[in-house]
Amino acid sequence: MDIIEKLLTDNIKSFNVKFDNEFEFEILNLGGIITKIITPDSNGNLENIVVGYKDIESYIKNPSYFGAIIGRTSGRICEGKIKIDEVEYNLSKNYNPHNGHGGSSGFDKKIWNVEVIEGNDKVDFKLTSKSLDVEENFSGNLDLIVNFEVKKDFEIIQTYFAKSDKNTLVNMTNHTYFNLSGNIKEEITNENLRLKSDYILEIDETCVPTGEKLDVNNTPFDFRNLKNIGKDIDSLHPQIEIGCGYDHPFLLSEDKNQVYIEDKNGRNLTISTNQEAVVIYSMNFPDDLVLYNGKTKQRRFGICFETQSPPIGRNMCFLENSMLKKDEKYLQETTYKFSRK
Ligand code: BGC
Repeated sequence: MDIIEKLLTDNIKSFNVKFDNEFEFEILNLGGIITKIITPDSNGNLENIVVGYKDIESYIKNPSYFGAIIGRTSGRICEGKIKIDEVEYNLSKNYNPHNGHGGSSGFDKKIWNVEVIEGNDKVDFKLTSKSLDVEENFSGNLDLIVNFEVKKDFEIIQTYFAKSDKNTLVNMTNHTYFNLSGNIKEEITNENLRLKSDYILEIDETCVPTGEKLDVNNTPFDFRNLKNIGKDIDSLHPQIEIGCGYDHPFLLSEDKNQVYIEDKNGRNLTISTNQEAVVIYSMNFPDDLVLYNGKTKQRRFGICFETQSPPIGRNMCFLENSMLKKDEKYLQETTYKFSRK
């Protein structure tokens, strides 16, 4: 395998690994942003299956959070209000009127320390960072390690470890937009999805959970059998209308391989996680920065599978699910396994 480290600006670096079977992975120290995952389709065409920008300047802005590590808390927190040990904290309302993805400056904006550990047919990219007490108004100093174990046999195991010196909230995820057609060629509505999920969390008109679960039976959210993503994405279901497509937390059953997505070109991806939920976002509101294929505003040309605890909704519902007690260990594990037919 070849490992190449490149300095892109004064302080931003990329780390690339390419195995002799052509599997390639690239990550930045900025936000732990994954910029490349290159896999073959059934005809052996090697293409990037994540959405990304053309220039590093766009990654510095990254309004859509392409490929980034998200935290301390992923998704929205209703009106940016939380309560821990009877103390109320007001977080930044960067997702007007809510808090979103860790606030104005979350882990997606940090320059991480990256250690590269070469192994047998694998390499670990061990990213470390911290968030200080009252940073973004969260309580407690938080130390974080996110390890990406990239294996030659087309597997990426992400492990997040965190610890804090005060009771706080932690709910980390990864915000990669996948597009298995390769090089952002086609809308993800052409791909098929299977999900081990019987319920979504209902969201209100401002996109935060109401606290109610909704049975997926006979709804556009039923992916328990393999279904085309585009089939119901524009249906008149009120939940679909709120999200302008999919932008919902799906509750996952506990066993592995909870998410499976495939393209007609033979590429497929299976995701396993120890998290309770996956927020699926079908890139309904693209930004206007230039992608690596030279295009802009590619609505629905990517899909995120944000494995996490449920976002914190009305009346602070699900807040307990993101609680990390002082000195306790936080562990989130999510594995991507790529294959082809
Ligand atoms: C959210 C979307 C948001 C997107 C980009 C997703 O995780 O669920 O509502 O538009 O991130 O910020």
